[in-house]
Order: sequence, then structure tokens, then C-alpha cells
Amino acid sequence: MPQLGMQGPMKLVPSEIDRAVPHKTPGNFALGYIKETVPRAFIPTFVGRADSDLNRTLKELDSDAEWFKWRVARNAREAWNVQCKNFHDFWETGHLDMDEHPEPPKGTGWKCPVCE
Ligand SMILES: [Zn+2]
Repeated sequence: MPQLGMQGPMKLVPSEIDRAVPHKTPGNFALGYIKETVPRAFIPTFVGRADSDLNRTLKELDSDAEWFKWRVARNAREAWNVQCKNFHDFWETGHLDMDEHPEPPKGTGWKCPVCE
């Protein structure tokens, strides 16, 4: 299994998000479930990013996922690069519930560092 390089997993509920995740910073997150193997494994089903506010983005998600992992990014460009790497790394596991490649922030024209 590839690595996410994120903190967590934590329950995807507002109180848990507020307990750990900073406001007003770009960042990355993964949504998923826990597989009760030994050791326990977090299986990502979605990899996302926040361009400006990781805490708010997580709270505004419309997702049935029970668990998430997260990391802070220095800027939106780094969050984009990390999301692309996460997407390509975990696409190959077959667990991602994502039909399409992530899109860069509107108006940036940023290319995927992995496939473009
Ligand atoms: Zn790509």
C-alpha cells in the first residue's frame, strides 16, 4: 500500500475536525474506512484538497465516509501537487471511489505533476 503522509485517522465529525485541524490553511485530506487487520489499516476511498481553509472544507464535505486523515500544505500549489500524487498512488489500489482525475483550482491552469 502506498503512503499518504498524513495525520490521523480521525472520525469525520465537526468536533474531531476542530480538535486537530487548523483553520485558514491550505491542505490535503483523505476520506476512507478502517480495515480491522493487524495492524489496523486506513483505506482511502477519496483524496481531496483545500485551497484556502482545510478545517472548513472538511466540515462542508457531503460524504458518508466515517474516517479521515489530513495534512497542512504550505500553499494551494503544494496541496494540488500532493492531491495529484495521492490520486495516482491510490488509484492503483482499486479502492478509490473517484471517477475522474482531480481538477486544479479554477483559473490556474496547473498541470498534474505526475501524468502531464
Ligand atoms: Zn495526473
